[in-house]
Amino acid sequence: MVSVQDNVVELDRTVFYPLGGGQAGDTGRLGKWRVLDTRKGAAGDSVLHLLEPGAKLAAGDKVEIQIDWERRHRLMRLHTALHLLGAVVKAPVTGGRIGDDKAHLDFDIEMEKLVKEAIEARLHELISSSLETRPTWITDAELDERPELVKTMSVAPPRGEGRVRLLEIPGVDLQACGGTHVKNTAEIGRLAVARIRSEGKRNKRVTLTFA
Ligand SMILES: [Zn+2]
Repeated sequence: MVSVQDNVVELDRTVFYPLGGGQAGDTGRLGKWRVLDTRKGAAGDSVLHLLEPGAKLAAGDKVEIQIDWERRHRLMRLHTALHLLGAVVKAPVTGGRIGDDKAHLDFDIEMEKLVKEAIEARLHELISSSLETRPTWITDAELDERPELVKTMSVAPPRGEGRVRLLEIPGVDLQACGGTHVKNTAEIGRLAVARIRSEGKRNKRVTLTFA
């Protein structure tokens, strides 16, 4: 354990994913204490674990850590599904968010082009095609030369370490993304388009849930 400030703990290494890129932070346990949320720290790769009130830990303590895997797996499934959704709807993405029970993308598109049944059918096709997802890396400089790899306008890819991670779903999607994904689209399972709603002139929101 590197540092403790009140209920905020930083570790020398962690499996917790901090809130970022539209994806919620992990929850879980540090020893007997619950981790309610996880955030990025000031340094590039530092991760802050926010413990339940009253937690007592000291710098130098050794703790066993555990993420709430069931919840994280739902986040990974929905996150990967948004990559598919972004490929199914052919329009610029203006925003997005991933929770553990639903996720959405906002598109700059006309409402009448968003047809629930058509989107669901294409998503199910891609999910049941059992496509392997592939993380790869490129340098910051390479990313600058290929702006098309940054699809979500409101979410800047994690930079500053000299390289940026890409997620490739072969034949479907390739974009800069630092989030967590399932290894195969089949892991996503059955989804439904819960809602299609206008959130403004350039924001037409498509929300997915588990079916
Ligand atoms: Zn992603």
